[in-house]
Amino acid sequence: MSKACRVCHLIMEKTASICPSCKTQDISSEFIGEIFILKPEESDVAKRMKIDKKGHYALRVR
Ligand SMILES: [Zn+2]
Repeated sequence: MSKACRVCHLIMEKTASICPSCKTQDISSEFIGEIFILKPEESDVAKRMKIDKKGHYALRVR
């Protein structure tokens, strides 16, 4: 199981204790859906989720 950041929705290793992207410790192991954002500047989903870096994100984090 991976974990996802509650702030930026980035998915990371289950061993992570801080988000490598936004440095928060607000991380959850319960998330729904996954999405790969390759070109955030061209993606409506990325804009809606306020993602500006490419990567692997959770759609919803509990
Ligand atoms: Zn984050």
